[in-house]
Amino acid sequence: MKLTFRGAARTVTGSMHEIQTGHRRLLLDCGMYQGRRKEAAERNRHFPFAPAEVDALLLSHAHIDHSGNLPNLTSNGFGGPIFTTAATRDLCASMLADSAFIQEKDAEFMNRRNSRRRRVIEELTSEPVEPLYTINDAKAAMEQFRDVDMHSRTEVLPGVFSTTHEAGHMLGSTFLELELEGKKLLFSGDIGRCCLPIIRDPERACAADILIMESTYGDRLHQPMMHAKDKLAHIINTTARRGGKIIAPAFAVGRTQQIVLMIHELIHEGKISEIPVFVDSPLAVNVTEAFRKHTECYDVETNAFLDNGDDPFGFRRLRYIRDVEESKALNDVRVPCIILSASGMAEAGRVLHHLRNNVGDPRNTVLITGFQAENTLGRKLLDGEKEVNIFGEPVRVRAEVLKINELSGHADQQELLAWMEPLVKTVKHVFLVHGEYTQQQALAAAMLERYNIKATIPERGESFTV
Ligand SMILES: [Zn+2]
Repeated sequence: MKLTFRGAARTVTGSMHEIQTGHRRLLLDCGMYQGRRKEAAERNRHFPFAPAEVDALLLSHAHIDHSGNLPNLTSNGFGGPIFTTAATRDLCASMLADSAFIQEKDAEFMNRRNSRRRRVIEELTSEPVEPLYTINDAKAAMEQFRDVDMHSRTEVLPGVFSTTHEAGHMLGSTFLELELEGKKLLFSGDIGRCCLPIIRDPERACAADILIMESTYGDRLHQPMMHAKDKLAHIINTTARRGGKIIAPAFAVGRTQQIVLMIHELIHEGKISEIPVFVDSPLAVNVTEAFRKHTECYDVETNAFLDNGDDPFGFRRLRYIRDVEESKALNDVRVPCIILSASGMAEAGRVLHHLRNNVGDPRNTVLITGFQAENTLGRKLLDGEKEVNIFGEPVRVRAEVLKINELSGHADQQELLAWMEPLVKTVKHVFLVHGEYTQQQALAAAMLERYNIKATIPERGESFTV
């Protein structure tokens, strides 16, 4: 078989790998590449192969960097099945529609700006910008999804079988065991961690000849998970005591639901007072519905909630907000409360309004709940900048800025090495993907030292016959 690494090669986004076996082609994931605007647009728009020539696609999980370019693939001619779990399918329905909405808004904005410029510079004749894909494209792509149960073995192409395993990374996430040409190939997708709220722990790898493995945190060791809930209780109690609000930028998918569940547990345990909690993000509201529906993905603790007749993602003082007017009305809340809102790095979305209205008050807390990339507003707040720009205006920061960074959904170096241990005796080729090059080199070095395995770090477009 021939493997070609089409994306997430020496970088973390745009996951897409191609397997050619005989005259058939199989794709693993079809993620959106995120990076510099022009380069990203170019890379996402043009596939380095004819989409109509792909026969089937296997999707490891719903994150946009794994699924986000699917509507573009299907609208450009891919007509085959997309195999994934039911939870991933339902998450994708909301997430791809949301992504399409952003693409459409983006194109509209660019066209308005270009037409203003055109009026000034007569000779400027740029073509209108088309969205990468539309909401209709996203809807159409969903028609090609085919549900596979966790641990089921499915014939995805004639003579090619795929078995899904729990990856413990997000709701419905899998790693894939493929059987083809008398060999076993394992594709890790993204590997999660033990003890994450809501979802089950990752299963360990199984024996295989070829491994394609993520390496996001190939050079990192995480802090233990158990501190996160205690930290959250402390932050809520301290802020409430001084009469402040907590503004938490949180990723709409996964992180919001984890924090909601943790607050619910803390109320149950009597560790925090019952202050109002608002989830203010239409995507988070839709995605929470998928979380509610897919109880088959829950861990023991979350199932215990259900067994008591409790809704893990609903309690007396919690309100989900879709409506814009209701969102604006949160400005008038004068009592201590918690507002969870996207985006997770405070780059866009409703959280910007809440930050603008609240970072100036020293009674308030900005709670950072995940990784913050360089140059994002979330990162600037975390770095302690005393003045930040929000909607183009300078705003003084007087609120306390705190973070909970224990909830990462990716295994660290030691966890990745432990995960792959069951296959070290059988594996002949290891390819590292989905990581920055420095992280990949560190993981490759650790793998060589511990298992005497020499991993390959492919470049984008590089092919291997195995
Ligand atoms: Zn992921």
